[in-house]
Amino acid sequence: MNAAAPDFDADLLVIGGGSGGVRAARMAAARGARVTLVESGGMAGLGGTCVNVGCIPKKLYSYAAHYAEAFEESHGFGWSGEAPRLDWPTLKQNRRTELARLNTVYRTLLEGSSVEVLYGHARLLDAHTAQVDHGTTGGAAPTRLSARHVLIATGGRPQVPEVPGSEHVLTSNDMFDLEPFPARLLVIGGGYIACEFASIFNGLGSKVTQLYRGPQVLRGFDDDVRRFLGAEMIKKGVDLRLDAGMSSITRTPAGLRVELQGGGDLLVDAVLCATGRIPNVEGLGLDAAGVMQGAGGAILVDENHRTSVPSIYAVGDVTARVQLTPVALAEAMAVVDHLFGPPPGHAPRRTSYELIPTAVFTHPSVGTVGMTEAEARRDLGVISVYRSEFKALKHTLSGSSERTLMKLVVEEATDRVVGLHMVGPDAGEIVQGFAVAMKAGATKADFDATIGIHPTAAEEFVTMRVPVTAGR
Ligand SMILES: Cc1cc2nc3c(=O)[nH]c(=O)nc-3n(C[C@H](O)[C@H](O)[C@H](O)COP(=O)(O)OP(=O)(O)OC[C@H]3O[C@@H](n4cnc5c(N)ncnc54)[C@H](O)[C@@H]3O)c2cc1C
Repeated sequence: MNAAAPDFDADLLVIGGGSGGVRAARMAAARGARVTLVESGGMAGLGGTCVNVGCIPKKLYSYAAHYAEAFEESHGFGWSGEAPRLDWPTLKQNRRTELARLNTVYRTLLEGSSVEVLYGHARLLDAHTAQVDHGTTGGAAPTRLSARHVLIATGGRPQVPEVPGSEHVLTSNDMFDLEPFPARLLVIGGGYIACEFASIFNGLGSKVTQLYRGPQVLRGFDDDVRRFLGAEMIKKGVDLRLDAGMSSITRTPAGLRVELQGGGDLLVDAVLCATGRIPNVEGLGLDAAGVMQGAGGAILVDENHRTSVPSIYAVGDVTARVQLTPVALAEAMAVVDHLFGPPPGHAPRRTSYELIPTAVFTHPSVGTVGMTEAEARRDLGVISVYRSEFKALKHTLSGSSERTLMKLVVEEATDRVVGLHMVGPDAGEIVQGFAVAMKAGATKADFDATIGIHPTAAEEFVTMRVPVTAGR
């Protein structure tokens, strides 16, 4: 590792205590670097978006929402009795308790790695110096500190469209602590966050309407996945309206009146806007340090995550590349290897953006890795597509009409499986394993030679024999 220059307070200053920042700080400290991490949200901000208002609370609420279906489906398996009711305050309180536990785990991990943690808003003064304004979190006068290297990991935040009455809208940050529980919820947006919240609140008992201005939800995903998920969400009760949007919101005694583009209106208790996220760069002093930004303010970085200023690096959502926690973690570890060397016996890690598996925790969920059919057709030419739609074994007795979709995209010239997509229960759990096989270059012949686990949905991926389409 680089020895600390005596004229710097730290070897590495990390701005942001979320997924990327905490991982980089701990790993750098483990290499012997003197590390200071600054988090603007106080101790309750440790863990960042993922822990506090993202992946973790969302998945907990998704579990909660699944119980409604589970109770209903249990009748087909012989269970009877009154349907239990959701106690919203209990769910909120249990979530808060778990997140507070996680915040403490993060603090303990940082302290145990000898990372100095400061609470406050960091602003760059130049290429090596930052000022930390402690505001209400620390009470002290601003701290000024210098570092040989700076890592910006400040994440992103929700963006709300400008419409008359937009002061009434909520963002994903507000959804976990809503009071009271919204009996009627309008969700604006068609990305994964919008679809997840629509599914969650539909499951928890809200009457959910979802408006999306595009022709189908989950833009960028495989078209079969999009079509299939949209239909399944509607079957489960989400009033999904495509090519639709709102033009204004007014508060009335009966609730929020939302005027729709093209006419008509809706009366709801809450409006969630999940219409995109922007990088957290406000008040960060990027101009003072000379850090270049791209579209939407995202920090521009090279393949080593270095910004236009040689001493300053950036990872995670603030660079607006692939906005997922595991990607922020991978980028953080690549930066640490680059700056302080890899762990003994290892080669320095580089972040690979190929074959990143991802899940959408809708009901039913989506799991996907690799190319969509359209991308493969465009970039590879001759492909075969295998697709299966079926009712899962569980639903032969449950009475649910939910169906599962599984799809493989295969490059004909190499027989490599280049895309794997699923809509159905536990899709993320299933696709994670197949992603390893695809990363190792698995061919369709390898899939065919693999014996299935019976009876599972996952076995369908190794038993699809006849392509539904083949060619260009
Ligand atoms: C609703 C929702 C659901 C999601 N679900 C998933 C999912 O299921 N799976 C998945 O992989 N990803 C999910 N994500 C995305 C994931 O949360 C992010 O990709 C990830 O948290 C990015 O990590 P990061 O380190 O870049 O930033 P963050 O985790 O956002 O951390 C940034 C931190 O920097 C702090 N900060 C900001 N500015 C300053 C400053 N000037 N000084 C000091 N501190 C500052 C912030 O307070 C914050 O704690 C979800 C996101 C949302 C919003």
